[in-house]
Amino acid sequence: MPSRVAPNHPLPAEAPFAPDLPVRLGISRCLLGEPVRYDGGHKRDPFLADVLGQHVEWVPVCPEVEAGFGTPREAMRLVDDAAEPRLMTVRFHQDHTNRMRRYAKTRVRELQTLKLSGYVFKKDSPSCGTRRVRVYARDGHLLGTGKGLFAEAFQRAFPLTPIEEEGRLRDQGLRENFIERVFAYHRWQALSTRLTMARLVAFHTAHKYLLLAHSQRHYRELGRLVGNAKPYSIRELARTYGHLFMEALAVKTTIRKHVNVLQHVAGHVKVALSTAAREDLHEAISDYRNGFVPLSVPIALIRHYVRILDVPYLKDQVYLAPHSKELMLRNHV
Ligand code: SF4
Repeated sequence: MPSRVAPNHPLPAEAPFAPDLPVRLGISRCLLGEPVRYDGGHKRDPFLADVLGQHVEWVPVCPEVEAGFGTPREAMRLVDDAAEPRLMTVRFHQDHTNRMRRYAKTRVRELQTLKLSGYVFKKDSPSCGTRRVRVYARDGHLLGTGKGLFAEAFQRAFPLTPIEEEGRLRDQGLRENFIERVFAYHRWQALSTRLTMARLVAFHTAHKYLLLAHSQRHYRELGRLVGNAKPYSIRELARTYGHLFMEALAVKTTIRKHVNVLQHVAGHVKVALSTAAREDLHEAISDYRNGFVPLSVPIALIRHYVRILDVPYLKDQVYLAPHSKELMLRNHV
């Protein structure tokens, strides 16, 4: 029987479905420090440029420059209708809506070939903002909020792709969730092009606890889908599974949900542990529940037991062994 162990042991092998292909993300070009803003400035974000940038391949896009408005240029804003705003310059009221829409249509088609696993947009921009971008009446008073024109076209073309704004990524929980979704989507993209029923079952099995940590409802729904897959073609399955899978991961995790998963997983190893080791595990989970240690502590301890007890079902769980880069980025936050 294993004795008491400290949770700082070497990592076990990574979970399957962790393709070695680079993780490619779109990004609003000004966030990387390029002087493409209307005033010739930039909005370099140190986390994106210096930390995340070391582990992903950026595809920088500046819709306003690429649509031909040049730098410097007259500032623009959204006007008229929050649901379907127009893109107009602030001072001379030039309407650039159609030009931006034409550009966006072509650019999203090009981006399709690059298989992006996520996109980081610049907040508040009438082209790049994904939420709460101010929309004005022509006389200048505030009407409401909407989405930047390019961001809206991107979301319509890539509804599953994880997106975030740089401002929201300063929130630890949102940042961690974004990184998790990006890597999960990357795994799904790699699988969905060569999907077979057997591979889908293996993928689903490996992600069970990760799904449970986000949404019980999706966990059950996806289980039913995989369990009763016969009437569907592989194409239909890929579409429905991919949609539900990414929707599940967008649901916020909580300490309570994690504790539930940890207890579930611990149930698989406890029987083979000594009393002292069981107590260690119980203590690590309660310390996490009470906010004394991060989630990585009980997870590392469980991984240790899974490895030495050689529990095949748990060894392949992504929840316990995410990709090393993902782990590094998530621990960094
Ligand atoms: S917010 Fe978007 S359009 Fe504006 S400078 Fe940055 S990348 Fe270009």
